[in-house]
Parts: sequence; structure tokens; C-alpha cells
Amino acid sequence: MTEQFDVIVVGAGAAGMMSAIEAGKRGRKVLLVDHAKKIGEKIRISGGGRCNFTNIHTHPSKFISNNPKFVISALKQYTQNNFIDLIKKHNIKFHEKKLGQLFCDESAQQIIDMLLLECEMAKVVLKKDTTIDDIDKQDDNYFIVVGSDKYFSQSLIIATGGLSIPKIGASKFGYDIAQKFGLKVIETLPALVPLTFSEKILAICKELTGLSVEAVVSFKKTFFEEGMLFTHRGLSGPSILQISSYWKLGDNIKVNLSPKLDVDKFLNDRKISSPKQDIGIIVSEILPKRLAHIICNENNVNGNICELSNKVLTSLSNSINAWVINPIGTEGYRTAEVTLGGIDTEEISSKTMMSNKHPGLFFIGEVVDVTGHLGGYNFQWAWSSGYVAGQYA
Ligand SMILES: Cc1cc2nc3c(=O)[nH]c(=O)nc-3n(C[C@H](O)[C@H](O)[C@H](O)COP(=O)(O)OP(=O)(O)OC[C@H]3O[C@@H](n4cnc5c(N)ncnc54)[C@H](O)[C@@H]3O)c2cc1C
Repeated sequence: MTEQFDVIVVGAGAAGMMSAIEAGKRGRKVLLVDHAKKIGEKIRISGGGRCNFTNIHTHPSKFISNNPKFVISALKQYTQNNFIDLIKKHNIKFHEKKLGQLFCDESAQQIIDMLLLECEMAKVVLKKDTTIDDIDKQDDNYFIVVGSDKYFSQSLIIATGGLSIPKIGASKFGYDIAQKFGLKVIETLPALVPLTFSEKILAICKELTGLSVEAVVSFKKTFFEEGMLFTHRGLSGPSILQISSYWKLGDNIKVNLSPKLDVDKFLNDRKISSPKQDIGIIVSEILPKRLAHIICNENNVNGNICELSNKVLTSLSNSINAWVINPIGTEGYRTAEVTLGGIDTEEISSKTMMSNKHPGLFFIGEVVDVTGHLGGYNFQWAWSSGYVAGQYA
């Protein structure tokens, strides 16, 4: 069987559904294809099941790409407020959790249901659980091969996402298609991912498993002040996930475990005001007890503060205000929220998301070399890039 469409969208995730809806609203005959049995699985598991669907502070500075200006046009054409309006139109209740992050009050499933309803209203033909055997171009038409069927279209939108969480459908399909059409792909890496450590730091992490502290985590000039979590595998929590998108293998990161306090000054003041006080008790005034205990042990300090030299106190305060640690890796795509790298933005028009070399071929969402910070920015990129492609496909 063969069938002609105006637009074929591959990948019915956040970006793919948005592009299909928008193209359908323009009267285009749209086919949306996904190999997964269930649609929108990444949306369903996002934000702890409540989907952090956008961020009110969305701004190009919140995105990582070889070309940091690439996102500007799409984010302007479809803003966070446009998506918030859509959510309101569907009566989905939401709240700001922190730092401008918007979550559903009830469930991420509401976002999936909303997108599926919009697809239906835009007369999008949805084929799930469908394996695409081949994609190619014949004259001015693209086509996909599904078993013995062939579907043709003027425009082809690739929205197959990144590589994280392979067990719910992630694949390298989008990168392969790009390469097949001769487009450059920037090296991909897991991002927004917990960091792992060798024995000494790992032993500390294991001992402190479950403990969360507010910390400033920095890599070179980039830093994030958010929660940091000790786990039995290493370090996690928002500040670590954020820095993982910047950290490079072989380099150190720096952790300030008490960002609001100059610990060196604090300890020196206490040495004068309470010379007979135990150092462990003093440190546990600024850090959780278990962490204070380990830090004192690691620094070989105990006894009354007056017995410790200023040099020892400075070294102790450095391990609190500027703990330098060397990750040995990440937990990888198994737990990463996103993929760094992807289709080189130089290959795509930032205004339309269409390939410069192949008119009618579009790439949107996470498959493109655009990675948002933690906090709803990755979905906003999916909505914005999907909207834009939907206007031009
Ligand atoms: C655990 C977790 C939590 C997250 N939480 C948030 C959050 O709260 N806020 C936020 O902004 N971001 C979050 N993210 C990131 C966000 O989910 C992604 O950035 C976003 O889903 C990307 O959208 P996309 O449409 O490009 O790709 P996806 O949503 O991944 O969709 C890609 C689709 O393509 C399909 N596909 C793949 N290969 C093929 C193929 N060969 N043939 C057919 N179909 C194919 C997949 O089945 C999938 O349906 C989270 C990610 C994870 C893993």
C-alpha cells in the first residue's frame, strides 16, 4: 500500500506531537509515527510524574548548544506564555514549584491527553507501535517504509529525541537519518545526569547516602546553587545534574557546602569567642551532623578549637567552602534526563528548523544540538521547535 501525506512526523514525543498539531491546524494532512506502544512516555515520567512543562524564566541563556544564538528565534515564535495559554485552555491546573518551574497539580498524563486531543482536533493520523524500516527521498518527496507499506510526504519532520532512558523508546534513529542525508552530528553525551566517583569520594557518598544539602557546585566559571544529594553511586540532586551538562571528563568540580558562610572567618571568630568548644560541635552548627563528622575525620581534626592552628582551620574551611572533587564519569543514558549534542545547528535554519541542504526535511526537539538546563527548559525547547516546524512543514 502507498499513501501520500503533506507532512510525516517521526517520533510522537513532546516536539513531534506539537509539530503535528500545528501543521494539522494549517490544514496539512499529517501522519505521526512512533515505534513505542505507549505515546508520550517521557512526558509521563517527567517531573516526578507531574511534568515540569516549562519555566517562566525561559531565556536563551538557559540552553547549551555549539551555537548559543540558535534557540532565540524559536523561543520567540512560541514562548512559555504560549504554552501556558494552551494548558489554561485545557483547564489543567498547575503551580510554580521553585525557580520559575511550572508543574501540573495532578499528573503529567494530563499533558499527554491534551496533546493527543489536540492531535485529534487537527486530524493528525497517529500510528504507534510502528517500526520504520527505511526513510529516503524520491524526486521532491520523502518517504518512509513500514513493512510492505510506503508513505510519501512533501515534508518530513524528525522528532525522535535523544538517547536517554533507552528502555522507554529512545533510539539513535534521528542521528542516523541526519547522517544518511549528509548532515553533521555533534558528539552526543549524557547530560543532567548523576556523577560517579572513585573509591575515596565514593566511600563518603555511600556513608552519607540520602543526605541532601544546599550547595554551590561549579565547573570553571559555571555554577549552580541548588540541592545536592549523596547517593550510594556518587552525587546527584539538581546542582550536580546541572553541572553534569558542563563538566568534562578528567576535570574537577568544586563544591561549596556552606555557600552562605565564609567558614574560615567563622572558625577564626569562634576560636576567639569559644576557644574551649569542640571543633566537631562547631562544624555541625553549619553542616548536617553526619557530614560534619566525616569532614572533621577527613581533615584529621578533633578536640578544642583553640588547639588547632590557623593553617589547619583554613584547610578545614576549604574542604567546606571549596571541596574539589574529580568525577570519574556519569551514570550514563540509563538515568540521564537529556542528551548533549545532536544534529549540528549549522545544518538547520533557526527560523524554520528546516535543513539547509534538504528543503522539506526538519529536525526538532532533543535530537538537535540544543540542551536545556534542568527546570522545564527542555520541554519548552520541544514545544518551541515543534511549533516552528509545524508552521513551515
Ligand atoms: C526521567 C526524565 C525526566 C524529565 N523531566 C523533565 C521535566 O520535568 N521537564 C523538562 O523540561 N524536561 C524533562 N525531561 C527531558 C524531556 O523529557 C525531553 O527533553 C523531551 O521529552 C524531549 O522531547 P522530544 O520530543 O524531542 O523527544 P522525546 O520526548 O524523547 O520523544 C521522542 C519520541 O520518538 C520516538 N522514537 C524514537 N526512535 C524512534 C524510531 N526509530 N521510530 C519511531 N519513533 C521513534 C520515541 O518513542 C519517542 O516517543 C526529562 C527526561 C527524563 C528522561
